[in-house]
Amino acid sequence: MPTVREFLEKIKFDGPVSYGEPMSGRTTFRIGGPADALAEPRTRESLAALLSAARSEGLPVFLLGGGANLLVRDGGIRGLVVSTRGLAGLRITEAGIEAEAGVPVTDLVGAAAEAGLSGLEFAAGLPGSVGGAVYMNARCYEREFADLMTRVDYLDSRGNLGSLVPAKGEWAYKSTPFMPGGLQSGSVVLGAEFRLRPGEKPAILSRMRELEADRAAKGHFDFPCAGSVFKNDRRFGRPTGRILDELGFRGRALGTAAVSEKHANIFVNPGSATAADMLALIEQARREARERYGYELETEVVIVGEP
Ligand SMILES: Cc1cc2nc3c(=O)[nH]c(=O)nc-3n(C[C@H](O)[C@H](O)[C@H](O)COP(=O)(O)OP(=O)(O)OC[C@H]3O[C@@H](n4cnc5c(N)ncnc54)[C@H](O)[C@@H]3O)c2cc1C
Repeated sequence: MPTVREFLEKIKFDGPVSYGEPMSGRTTFRIGGPADALAEPRTRESLAALLSAARSEGLPVFLLGGGANLLVRDGGIRGLVVSTRGLAGLRITEAGIEAEAGVPVTDLVGAAAEAGLSGLEFAAGLPGSVGGAVYMNARCYEREFADLMTRVDYLDSRGNLGSLVPAKGEWAYKSTPFMPGGLQSGSVVLGAEFRLRPGEKPAILSRMRELEADRAAKGHFDFPCAGSVFKNDRRFGRPTGRILDELGFRGRALGTAAVSEKHANIFVNPGSATAADMLALIEQARREARERYGYELETEVVIVGEP
């Protein structure tokens, strides 16, 4: 098998590429070792050609959105990391607004407000890309992405273009058909359209500012983090943050990793945290929840890479 560099040279990939770039610079946790190669296609066609060539060579590919829900291990990522950042199209449509996968959610929300379209205010201040938010079915303030999507465009694991309309049942709390085991598992989200309604721009902006301020007050932006580390689970009868509070996790530190002083489900990197310490802290939380309550905490953060 050729090296990733040889591979990218052979296929004459035409977008930006870096070799050995630390993933800590590409994740909101600011944690993670180097990617063998990181490529940023600028068009859907270039992305499709890259994925198809990688598939033929049997080269492992990891898809990177905004890196806001990722914990990359200290050994980094072998093979090819493909960033969606170059897929940046955004357009007002009859139904609402359409965005490509690499558009930051904050830009999507801002563009909708600018056009006087209401519905996306709940996602104001949400870190990450449109593709990542669709993949995760990002949820905040009692609303989730699946509520608004009229269409998701994707490239399936064999390279075929597809479109779907989110159906109830397949999309649930932090669960989508794009995740492992789902019908569209292995697919790449190319973009999505959102149904919005006309609204008053000042009211839309005011709601956005309110939610951004609420996030800031909850300490979301005090230190590098990836939002909530664990999912909530209705069976536990209370939010996971509350359970971790009861276990005394708020403000706890382990080596270079720590838990926010303001929210026990937000683990933070106070400076130079390693993935090894963060994973040890995550494991400690899982163990204590299991021992005290018999709960199995499930991580929401996606963990990838080599130890
Ligand atoms: C301060 C802070 C607050 C947060 N608050 C919330 C919150 O309130 N609610 C919430 O739900 N989340 C929250 N998060 C987590 C994060 O914002 C979301 O999970 C976000 O949707 C992740 O998007 P991303 O583009 O960064 O994905 P990434 O972290 O880059 O990737 C996450 C997963 O999605 C996959 N992926 C990314 N793009 C694509 C694509 N185009 N096609 C297929 N797969 C793809 C990746 O391979 C990976 O498996 C928060 C994070 C931070 C840092």
